[in-house]
Amino acid sequence: MAVVPQRRTSKTRKRKRRTHFKLTAPGMAVCENCGDMKLSHRVCPSCGFYNGKLVKAPKEESAEIASE
Ligand SMILES: [Zn+2]
Repeated sequence: MAVVPQRRTSKTRKRKRRTHFKLTAPGMAVCENCGDMKLSHRVCPSCGFYNGKLVKAPKEESAEIASE
């Protein structure tokens, strides 16, 4: 025989359980090259730099960065 819960979980019990279930902010850092916010330990999406070196060509703003 299948085992089923003896009692339906009440709205209150469910909501109390879920008070511990929350989102956390991702680890953000300021890019040392362009100053934008980026995820830490990842290549900067706006300038393509990681650890002071150009690792990946940025998408569209390459002309803007080259002019600076
Ligand atoms: Zn950057």
